[in-house]
Amino acid sequence: MSASKQRIYLSPPHMSGREMKYVTEAFETNWVAPVGPHVDAFEKSIADYCGVKYAAALNTGTAAIHLALQMLGVGRGDEVIASSFTFSATANPIVYLGATPLLIDSEPETWNMDPDLLERALKERRGKHGHTAVKAVIVVHLYGMPARMEEIMAIARKYEIPVIEDAAEALGSRYNDKPVGSFGEMAVLSFNGNKIITTSGGGALLSGNRELIDRARFLSTQARDAAPHYQHSEIGYNYRMSNVLAGIGRGQMEVIDMRVRQRRDNFNFYREHLGKIDGIGFLEEPDEKYFSNHWLTTVLIDPEIAGVTREAVYDTLEKSNIESRPLWKPLHQQPVFSSCPAWLNGISDRLFDNGLCLPSGSHLTGEERERVLRIFSAAL
Ligand SMILES: *Cc1c(COP(=O)(O)O)cnc(C)c1O
Repeated sequence: MSASKQRIYLSPPHMSGREMKYVTEAFETNWVAPVGPHVDAFEKSIADYCGVKYAAALNTGTAAIHLALQMLGVGRGDEVIASSFTFSATANPIVYLGATPLLIDSEPETWNMDPDLLERALKERRGKHGHTAVKAVIVVHLYGMPARMEEIMAIARKYEIPVIEDAAEALGSRYNDKPVGSFGEMAVLSFNGNKIITTSGGGALLSGNRELIDRARFLSTQARDAAPHYQHSEIGYNYRMSNVLAGIGRGQMEVIDMRVRQRRDNFNFYREHLGKIDGIGFLEEPDEKYFSNHWLTTVLIDPEIAGVTREAVYDTLEKSNIESRPLWKPLHQQPVFSSCPAWLNGISDRLFDNGLCLPSGSHLTGEERERVLRIFSAAL
């Protein structure tokens, strides 16, 4: 197929070429199991990179959120606050545990959790004697953009509620020169096939608290007591990462800085060429405190000014075999979460109506970017 017809994907996996060495090593040493030297080394590399002491490698990011909430004691009748503008995996584990998600809308600069709405929700949920059913706050760094962590952490501290950072899309992003994932009590990464680095499928839980990570390792390997026979005093999970896949992760982590640069290059290219068009907007770093990995480049298309809808641009790209995707549908609009209490301001609704993710793979070629630009411009 000619290069002009080949499909351009939104965010495909990008191997460095160093992965097979580790995968082969796993086979040669027979560490083909959810335990082994690659798991240990991969954990160390992500903990170091994220500026936290400890990491547990798991089989998905969703599993990491589930374990984080479980370890905070979330259960039936409890409530967990979460960003509404996110992928469903942020909130699904709240429901696994029988708790209720409380959804918080976005603020316009980062598109992430609005600190004012967070405080309003915490205040309203606090009963007599300071009692509250709210057991945790899950704050998402969407599309790689760090949330307003200063304000969010201050509010969470004031109400004494632990924060879990959902950094599934934000490995390599920084706030106040500190890696995201190092602010909350715990943080979650994902290495799904579409993320900035991948292990095909995988995730991790990060924390500065050793007990939490030891416990996550224990729970993720079926909660086996220290006995030669299989003895269990608690319900466990089978959530550990395979040593083979951790080998892929090691190869990916060796090039993470380059991947961040490549994703940011995509953003700069699109913004440079489309940013001056009336009615087209980008998710920009609000000031020098914010450093986004720009996992996906997202554009806002104001149909009144640009003269074209998001759908029309999507259709035109699709006809030219270019994959794009509307922004995440806010959870408060999702049939499965629409009955959850929500604190809304209309921001994420508007983002969802007008927003589109553009092809953002780290090995997008100059030619491919030009093709996206040409078709996008033709759609206007
Ligand atoms: C990908 C993603 C997850 C889930 O990660 P998996 O590894 O796919 O389970 C959670 N939250 C957000 C915001 C994500 O983008």
